[in-house]
Amino acid sequence: MNRKARQIISKAVRNNTLSKEEIILLLSCENSHNYDLFQAADLVRRRYLGNAVHLRGIIEFSNYCGRLCRYCGLRCANKSLQRYRMTADDIYKAAVDACVLGYRTIVLQSGEDAFYDADTIASLVRRLKELGLAVTLSLGERSYEEYRLWRKEGADRYLLKHETEDPLLYEKLHPDMNYTNRLNCLYWLRELGYQIGSGCMVGLPGQTPEMLAADVLLLKELDVEMAGIGPFIPNPSTPLATAAPGTADMTLKMVALTRLLLPRSHLPATTALVTLAGDGRERALCSGANVIMLNVTPLAFRDLYNIYPNKERADEAPAAGRRQIENTLSALGRPVAQNAGHSPKRKFRRAAG
Ligand code: SAH
Repeated sequence: MNRKARQIISKAVRNNTLSKEEIILLLSCENSHNYDLFQAADLVRRRYLGNAVHLRGIIEFSNYCGRLCRYCGLRCANKSLQRYRMTADDIYKAAVDACVLGYRTIVLQSGEDAFYDADTIASLVRRLKELGLAVTLSLGERSYEEYRLWRKEGADRYLLKHETEDPLLYEKLHPDMNYTNRLNCLYWLRELGYQIGSGCMVGLPGQTPEMLAADVLLLKELDVEMAGIGPFIPNPSTPLATAAPGTADMTLKMVALTRLLLPRSHLPATTALVTLAGDGRERALCSGANVIMLNVTPLAFRDLYNIYPNKERADEAPAAGRRQIENTLSALGRPVAQNAGHSPKRKFRRAAG
């Protein structure tokens, strides 16, 4: 890595800022030269958040979706996918099982499935809060009133990735959606007091380093509590079947840069990265990541939540999956966090008035 890049990294470690040009320069460094960037992100993560890794249990409760996202296997035009919906009771039961295994946060994710109305989700949130769990919702774009109701019932966090900051690329990839609505949803969620998660895919067809730099800067501007950054993986049942996938190296650079700019945010080592590169989880944990989302969906539905192919650990029962991660973490000297893993940014925001 050249001297200029090293200077930029040291500056970012000191003051958590980078210009767009600086980010582009770091994204463009040859892969063999990234060690300094990853090490700097690891240092910032340790300094601000310590070594503990937060484990979240994710329940993918429905693969029905009304949207047409061109990269995603759940898109409603994909007629080759067998669809499923879990009942509220089955979702609750899966959450209780995860709670027994030690999870303190449950993430409920689905396609955009209007079948689950506002009250169904609200009563599910209420029941999960009675278990003492932190609840993250990731149900896509819904109305302000729905977000408000779920927050009132106790939902703690909402995950809605912006996917790409480039409005034109966004609209090409989402023929039935628009970028402004996406951002509005994030602003509503923030206003309602959710801890917000956003994020992007890396290596989308037509995506440039400039656009990736804009993604990182948007995460900084939104001051997200959580940022999910994963590689694009082409799904054979979508219009992007023959597109090239993103790379693990570019994804790791994006995670590391986000860590430099958002020292207190939660950054997961994403499942998509592990799907693309077997050692992706360990590498992400050493490049700024401090969260792992593990699948606790009942096995019967696992391989039907087919966003992209060969999703990691599709056939592993929740207990075995958790044991294996605990071993991986212990080998890395990274303990499992014992608290609910609310964002430490909260404290600072309150302190700032
Ligand atoms: N309906 C919810 C959840 C969407 S699926 C929502 O709109 O938020 C969860 C995430 O999977 C998406 O945000 C997207 O970033 C990711 N994803 C979908 N298809 C993908 C693909 N082919 N490769 C990599 N990630 C993908």
